[in-house]
Amino acid sequence: MSKVASDRGEAKVEPIVKCPFCGQLESKVTDSRAGTAGDVIRRRRECETCARRFTTYERVEEVVPLVVKKDGRRETFERQKALSGLRRACDKRAVPLERIEQIVDAIERELIDSGEKEIPSEKVGERVMRHLREVDPVAYVRFASVYRQFKDIDELRSEIDQLSSGRSVLTRPEAANDKTASEDNGEGAQP
Ligand SMILES: [Zn+2]
Repeated sequence: MSKVASDRGEAKVEPIVKCPFCGQLESKVTDSRAGTAGDVIRRRRECETCARRFTTYERVEEVVPLVVKKDGRRETFERQKALSGLRRACDKRAVPLERIEQIVDAIERELIDSGEKEIPSEKVGERVMRHLREVDPVAYVRFASVYRQFKDIDELRSEIDQLSSGRSVLTRPEAANDKTASEDNGEGAQP
C-alpha cells in the first residue's frame, strides 16, 4: 500500500469502505498485497463492528482509448462486449473462459499501452483476431468471417488455407489497410 505524506503530517490515505455485511465504515486491513501484474492491490479487511472479513481490490484507473467506429461515432472500449463476441466465436470450442478473459485483458492492456486517445474499431478487431488465431483456428475463422466480411467462399477458403500453412492475411502488410472490416467494438462474431 502506498504511504502518502501530506503537509498535515498524515501517514497514509485509506479509502473508506463499507462493510458488505453490516454496512459500518470502520474496518482494519489485515493483509495487503499487490496482484501479479502489480496493477491491483488486494486488501483483506476485517469489520471493526461485526468482525466479518472481506476483500477489496484497488486498481489504478487507466485511460483506454476511445474506439472510433466507421461512421465516426466514438465509444468506450467495453470489456463485456469484447468478451461476448469472443465467447460466441469460441462457442462449443475447447477454449476455457479464463483464456478468453486473458485475451480481453491483453487487448485492453495493448490499447492502454498504445498511448493513443482514439483507435479505429478495425484495429481493435485485428487485435482480437491476432490473439484468437493463436488460441483456436475455428474460433478465429468464425470471428474473422464475420468481422472481415469475406466476399465469397473462395476468399474464406484461401484464408483457411493460409491459416493451416501458418500464414494468414493478417501477417501481410496490406491487411493493415483492409477496408472490409465491419464496424464494431471487437464483438460481432455471430455465427
Ligand atoms: Zn460489519
